[in-house]
Amino acid sequence: MLKNIGMLIEGAIRGGGIPLEVVNPANEEVIARCGRATPSDAADAVAAARRAWPAWRDTPLAVRRQTLLRIADAVDQNANELTELVTLEQGKPLKDAAIEVQTASGVLRYFAESDFAPHVVQDDGHQRAEIHRRPLGVVVAITAWNFPLLMGVYKLAPALIAGNTFVLKPSPTTPLSSLRFCELIADIVPAGVVNVLVDGGDIGPILTSHPDVAKVSFTGSTTTGRSIMRSASETLKRLTLELGGNDAAIVLDDVDVKAVARQIFGLAFVNSGQVCMSIKRIYVQSAIYDEMCDELAVLANAAKVGDGRHAETQFGPLQNRRQFDVVKELLEEAPRYGKVIAGGRAWGPGYFVQPTLVRDITEGNRLVDEEVFGPLRSVLKFDTVDEAVQRANSSSYGLGASVWSRDTALATQVASRLEAGSAWVNQHFAVAPHIPFGGVKQSGIGVEFSREGLYEYTYAQSVVVAKDPVRS
Ligand code: NAD
Repeated sequence: MLKNIGMLIEGAIRGGGIPLEVVNPANEEVIARCGRATPSDAADAVAAARRAWPAWRDTPLAVRRQTLLRIADAVDQNANELTELVTLEQGKPLKDAAIEVQTASGVLRYFAESDFAPHVVQDDGHQRAEIHRRPLGVVVAITAWNFPLLMGVYKLAPALIAGNTFVLKPSPTTPLSSLRFCELIADIVPAGVVNVLVDGGDIGPILTSHPDVAKVSFTGSTTTGRSIMRSASETLKRLTLELGGNDAAIVLDDVDVKAVARQIFGLAFVNSGQVCMSIKRIYVQSAIYDEMCDELAVLANAAKVGDGRHAETQFGPLQNRRQFDVVKELLEEAPRYGKVIAGGRAWGPGYFVQPTLVRDITEGNRLVDEEVFGPLRSVLKFDTVDEAVQRANSSSYGLGASVWSRDTALATQVASRLEAGSAWVNQHFAVAPHIPFGGVKQSGIGVEFSREGLYEYTYAQSVVVAKDPVRS
């Protein structure tokens, strides 16, 4: 059992109320008990962030930059501990957790370079007009369990550098790395600038309807995104919603099947399929369909699934019992919709599922039409490019999509017809701090990362100064 890690509210660690048990998904053992926030803890966190805001807003940019760099240093100096915590609570292999921690530090360093020089849109004899980016106030971040540390950090970095204060509410099943991160930075940020709450799934609505919260940045399911939008509407909060995805990969028949199968496999099953932007629907052109299915099946059957702490593990468990049950139900249904050519097996203790592939399947069932957040993927056959584009776009989601071909020009032209926030060619899930990512349709509103993402933590203020002397 880990030593208890508390919430951070106004610079002090607080224990909270009823304990929340955090479970290791690789063996179902309780690894920590954290005190859950009461509604009054949540109110205190927002009030602390509100009180801290004017001073943080007026802190020179150079000091805010230094603060972000010191936070990044703290992440780097404690990278091993944070990596182990991410694996322990989330289940992913240590090497993937290490990448998550490194990326968190990289995102902090990227946003530390942010520039807020005003944009001059008019400067003549009549007036000078400048557009400034101003902070919004208190930002609430609510996150999912698949990247438990990184998600909070990539919301915190732009929020803080822009001059906002911050309240983070991680997922109830993976709060530990966020709590430890906030404990590590408690002496780096002024009291109240960053606060973190633990909950049992009940505190979100208090935050999203709170009149002193200016913006909610949310990553999670589309259903919860809709609830948040409703809850935030009364007080007209700004929203960034990063929601579910059902990404298509379109594989044209001129590819090197073996090489592309390896890449597609890795990008479909990364984090045991629990990635919003992983490949979920694999569309393969008919001439190479059988060969591609065979190659993917070999990889899936050979995949090493186990405890993320073991060096040989390629894929860890599902993160929680609820998700495990959902995926087991889909595994049972799968033979009704197509032919299971690899995997199909789930076991415990822990929440393990062998990478599973279904071929000879088409749209019109849960496996293809819904977001499958686990290691279960469909391989669909198509004849023409137009057909593939139409079927890829038939989803209500629009997060990412990719096209695979030796003919990069053709693939790029096909990719540009896909209804998705990110369109990739001969790769997938290629996210980076300087490239915006976000969804269209039911995958969300707004973007994270890059200058566009930064601006979502600000509003545009026009400062317009008359040149003529004031006449009385
Ligand atoms: P979820 O929507 O169940 O929960 C996400 C967070 O919202 C948790 O912290 C939860 O406690 C909180 N929450 C739940 N109900 C709430 C409410 N009514 N008001 C406010 N907060 C509430 O999602 P999950 O199961 O944790 O994560 C999986 C989902 O997240 C998948 O659909 C996945 O695609 C999506 N996701 C999207 C992205 C992206 O960037 N687009 C990234 C990762 C995950």
